[in-house]
Amino acid sequence: MMVTCYNHKNIETVLSCSRCNKPVCNKCTIDSFVGIKCKDCGSIGKPAILNITFTDILRVLSLSLVFSIFVGFIYSLILVIILNIDLLGNIQSTALMSLRVITLIFLVFFGVVNGE
Ligand SMILES: [Zn+2]
Ligand SMILES: [Zn+2]
Repeated sequence: MMVTCYNHKNIETVLSCSRCNKPVCNKCTIDSFVGIKCKDCGSIGKPAILNITFTDILRVLSLSLVFSIFVGFIYSLILVIILNIDLLGNIQSTALMSLRVITLIFLVFFGVVNGE
């Protein structure tokens, strides 16, 4: 039984796409790390890889930047609150309440990050 290229019905071939198993001639193949691919599968793979790496780098950079600013801000806020309460001699429950509010803000923020 003669196998012909899916694209060129008059060309015999022994090659086939490693992803979709379509028979392909050597004009219609794209070499990849996982073997021979047809042009359809080859063109699906490439832009997806580029999109993932580029947007992932941007996302990680922006998230880590926002996160470090946020942590720095919250950390100094906690220090200011605790120091002020100590200096003013206020009751401890005020400090505990402030810490609870800050913890809540943290939890909401982590929820947003995980949701992304
Ligand atoms: Zn294919
Ligand atoms: Zn072909």
